This record gives sequence, C-alpha cells and structure tokens, in this order.
Amino acid sequence: MQTTKMRKFDYSSDPDLQSYGVSRNAFVAYLQQTLFERDTDHLSTNFGWELKEIDDTNRLATFQRSANYIDDCEGLQQQHEMKVEFDLLVGADGVSSKVRAELLRLDAIQRAAGNATENLPLSLKFLQNPEFYKSFHIRPALAKTSPLYKDHNRVQSWPSLNMLLVGMADGSFWGGSKKADLLNASSASEVETLFKGNAPEVYDLLLKENPNFAEDFLKQPAISFGGAVLLSRFHHKNVLLIGDAAHSMFPSYGTGCNVALEDCLLFDQILQESKPVHGKFPLRPAAAEFTRRRLCDAHAIVEMNTNFMLFPRGFLGYLQMLFLTTLRKWFPAVIKPTSYQLLWSTVPFEKIRHQKHKEIFLFYTALLLTSTLVVLIALSILQVLH
Ligand SMILES: Cc1cc2nc3c(=O)[nH]c(=O)nc-3n(C[C@H](O)[C@H](O)[C@H](O)COP(=O)(O)OP(=O)(O)OC[C@H]3O[C@@H](n4cnc5c(N)ncnc54)[C@H](O)[C@@H]3O)c2cc1C
Repeated sequence: MQTTKMRKFDYSSDPDLQSYGVSRNAFVAYLQQTLFERDTDHLSTNFGWELKEIDDTNRLATFQRSANYIDDCEGLQQQHEMKVEFDLLVGADGVSSKVRAELLRLDAIQRAAGNATENLPLSLKFLQNPEFYKSFHIRPALAKTSPLYKDHNRVQSWPSLNMLLVGMADGSFWGGSKKADLLNASSASEVETLFKGNAPEVYDLLLKENPNFAEDFLKQPAISFGGAVLLSRFHHKNVLLIGDAAHSMFPSYGTGCNVALEDCLLFDQILQESKPVHGKFPLRPAAAEFTRRRLCDAHAIVEMNTNFMLFPRGFLGYLQMLFLTTLRKWFPAVIKPTSYQLLWSTVPFEKIRHQKHKEIFLFYTALLLTSTLVVLIALSILQVLH
C-alpha cells in the first residue's frame, strides 16, 4: 500500500496565545444578524448593487445593478442606477476595490488641476499573487466521525497535494489545495486518482460528504490568491478604505480578515475619541487619523505576508523556527513569543516586523558562531591527527 506523507502543525502552540478558526460565511451571517438586532431603525441593506462612480465634491455615490444579480423583489426591480448621498463612504470592497480605483482617479484629476486636498499623491503598488486554489468543506457531524478529528485544533497538511485541512470552531473542516495538477485536472477520474494517491483518508471523508465530489471539484472554478496592495494613504476627503481594499495581502499567514477586523476596531476607537461638532462627528479628520495610525502597521503586515518573512520556507527557515521556539521553551522568562507567534496577539505589526529583524540577526549570528566553532574544532582535530 502506498503511504502518504502528512504533516501537522499549530498556528500557535504558545499557551499564552490562542487562535480560533471561524468559517467566513458563518461569521458574516453572525455580523449581519447582530447589526440588524442592534440598529434596525438606522440600517438598510441593498444587495446586488455595485459602486460605479464617486462624486467627492457633492458626496454622491452612484451604484449600478450588478450584471449577474437576479432580483425578485418589488420596487427596486426596474431601477438600474441609484445615487446615494453620504457623510462618509467606507470602501470595504476587497482586493479589486472600485472605491480605491475611484480615489486614485479623483486624486489624479485634482492634482492635475492643482486643487489637491492632500500634500502627497495617492499612489498604489499592486503585486499579483500568481497562485490559485480550490477548496472543500466537511460538515461538523461528519468531521467528528473521522480519525482526522483528533487533530482538529491543528493544521494538517499533505505536501504532495499542496493541501491544508483546518478545523473550524463549529467542528467542521475547511480544506484547500493549490496543486497545479489538481487544479488543471481534465477529468473527474484524474481528480480521484490524485486524491486517492496522495490523501486517501481525506478523499474517503469527501466522498461521504458528497458522493459526486470528484465531478464537483473538477467543475469548481479555481480562485485567485489575490494580491498585495500598498497604498500611500487610506483616505481621500470623506472617503475611507478599510480591509483588503486598503491593504490586501497574500494569504501566507491567514491574517487578511483579522487585519480587516482590526481596522474596524481602530476606526471605531477614533470615532469614540472624537468630539461631535454641532451634533455631528468630524468624519473627514477621523478618516485622515485612520491613515495616520494604521498605515505603517498595514504596510508591515502586507510586506511580511508577501516575503514569507515570519515563517520562512526551506531548510534554513524551519531551522530558524526550531531554534527560536526551542529557546522560548527553555527560557520562557527571557525569550518572549516569537514574531510568528505574536501574530495571535494585539502587538502592532510594525513591532512584530522589528522583532523579526532581531530574530534573523540572532539566528544567523548563532549559526555563524556555531559553524565557526565546528570548523575550528575540526581543524584542531585534524592538526592533532597529523
Ligand atoms: C486563499 C485565501 C485564504 C485566506 N485565508 C485567510 C485566513 O485564514 N484568515 C484570514 O484572516 N484571512 C484570510 N484570507 C484573507 C481574507 O479572505 C480577506 O482579507 C478578507 O476577506 C478581506 O475582507 P474584506 O471585507 O476587506 O473584503 P472581501 O471579503 O473581499 O469583501 C469585499 C466585498 O465587497 C463587494 N464588492 C466588490 N466590489 C464591489 C463594488 N464595486 N461595489 C460594491 N460591492 C463590491 C464584494 O462582493 C464583497 O462582498 C484569505 C484569502 C485568500 C485569498
């Protein structure tokens, strides 16, 4: 029988730092429900509308019907465009943000006309992630029947399929693979062969979840790993960007959503601190304050994800991680959690990046000293032998 290689690791094994896996859909549903419960009178939601244009002078946003949205509601059905006045427009429209594109357009126009409101131009650096993936889900009741469930709180991986299996807080498993052979498979039997040959224990489970798994997986479109967004600021007049729109990052450490949620906490804090003027919050200064407090941290986490800085790949990367976690285990009072472990804390990303630079220095210094010592000992032995 063919044996397949499976690895297990923890996002964070430090007892002081905890992490939880949450299904995105369940989380969004929870947030939506909570919002409605809290503020029914002031909240309205409109689905199937896409931002088309922003008029920053008159504070008007134009939305258009999304091309692939089928509306069976009365009233708005015939309407194809909608103009909305805003005091503050928060663009949380993801990696390909239209709000961001609009801000770049407006800033460039105003700069050319000599009436820009900010000293420095709004600029964007975008790095496309070349990778794609396909995912699958195993419901909680079924996941619990599997021998894989005993490691539900760890990350299980099958390197030969470039595949991860992650336990979610509700007991389910989420998995995904970026193996090119699997993504480019031309038939269901090819999908089956690859799964059976590399991760038979997962395939058994997937078949119990869905007897047509191989066919459905074949039809599933591969999803892009997104890109890295570095913006020079997150605000423009009364418009603010948060989440992936402001600082999308490679999913190297699974941090994007967490960073987006932190944005919300920070902006909420800024609003709490600001004093209303004539009963209104000074929203434009609040948006500028968000850039001031968030920019460096956002750039730091984008950079660390892009460069695999915290958990470098390859032999030296693993050696470095082993070295640092062992030091931490032996001297917990002196050696603080590693920069990678700090991702599961509230330490600002800029500080984490700073700590990483120190860890790199420590590791390579230790490596150099050890190698020098080994060479010196080897030379001494050779001298004695001669
Ligand atoms: C493979 C992969 C794995 C990941 N794993 C993790 C993980 O484990 N942990 C983690 O924290 N993060 C992870 N992330 C990152 C995470 O998914 C994102 O950071 C997060 O979804 C960003 O949230 P957001 O609300 O800013 O944007 P999105 O979730 O992208 O939401 C944007 C919303 O805006 C809407 N929209 C788009 N354009 C328009 C428009 N013109 N008008 C109106 N609406 C529009 C979209 O329909 C969507 O609803 C992962 C990302 C990838 C690609």
